[in-house]
Amino acid sequence: VKEMIKRFCETFGPSGYEDKVRQVILDEVTKYADSVTVDPLGNLIALKKGDGTGKKVMMAGHIDEIGVIVTFIDDNGFLRFANVGGVSPAVALGQRVLFENGTTGIIGQEKIDDPKDLKLERLFIDIGASTKAEAQQKVSVGDMAGFYAPVVDLGKRMYGKSMDDRIGCVVMAETMKRMKRSANDCYFVFTVQEEVGLRGAKTAAYAISPDMGIALDVTRTGDTPKCAPMAIELGKGVAIKVKDASIICHPAVKRLMVETAKKNGIPYQMEVLEAGGTDSGSIHLTKEGVPSGVISIPTRYVHMPVEMIDMGDLEACVSLLVKMLESKIEI
Ligand SMILES: [Zn+2]
Repeated sequence: VKEMIKRFCETFGPSGYEDKVRQVILDEVTKYADSVTVDPLGNLIALKKGDGTGKKVMMAGHIDEIGVIVTFIDDNGFLRFANVGGVSPAVALGQRVLFENGTTGIIGQEKIDDPKDLKLERLFIDIGASTKAEAQQKVSVGDMAGFYAPVVDLGKRMYGKSMDDRIGCVVMAETMKRMKRSANDCYFVFTVQEEVGLRGAKTAAYAISPDMGIALDVTRTGDTPKCAPMAIELGKGVAIKVKDASIICHPAVKRLMVETAKKNGIPYQMEVLEAGGTDSGSIHLTKEGVPSGVISIPTRYVHMPVEMIDMGDLEACVSLLVKMLESKIEI
């Protein structure tokens, strides 16, 4: 699974430019699915059919990553940019970025006297070009870049780019691989454009019209020095979401998660995330409403160029999802 994490995370795929990462995931999950389709917005939908007596369950994990988009190229070949999804200037400064065609650059800053003036518009990308024309041979206005950082294996933990939310995609792929055929029709949707407003999940949920929705996504932790308080720790198991800014999880779905974890001895923690949203925020508002919840993977340094996860937590997430999908779901 570590090899899969590396492959999924290191692939390029800012919101709207997900072709490369979708192909990598498609190559992995096709062998575990009864059917695989790509919808008009680019969502990858892999179905594991049930025996016809169960429920229709939609899983969603987003394949897009946060990034930057080129807005202007100046006469000296420096690129000005805006964010795609949540990118803060303090985090972006000094980082390396990677464009789809392999061009890389570093993010520099104008002279800034007051740290409060550190804004994205005061930063630029240097791709090593000396003139506008030279820069334009590699990059155009409108091109997107993601952060450029390898995945590193620390043994029981790993860190790297885009754990948000390629690790959720890994949970789904690993679940497809491990689960036995069940009563339920399980739709594993690898969604696009989550970071810019939970967009791909919206159209996929409309098409599938599920009986229950489950997003797989990262959540922050409250276990690093002097961080904002939060009752989630890395290495303490799967996080079962109660609410975030996009959803109050359906009590029946939350209960099913908690009971399944208890019954199978899977370590879990209850998550209340004060800011941020997930694909379930879109899914639960589909048509007449879809009971939905979220299985979260505890992650440190979310929306930074490298994010850290714990292998024990990953195992707990996969075990919980496998057990839920294999069970008879009453909802
Ligand atoms: Zn995410």
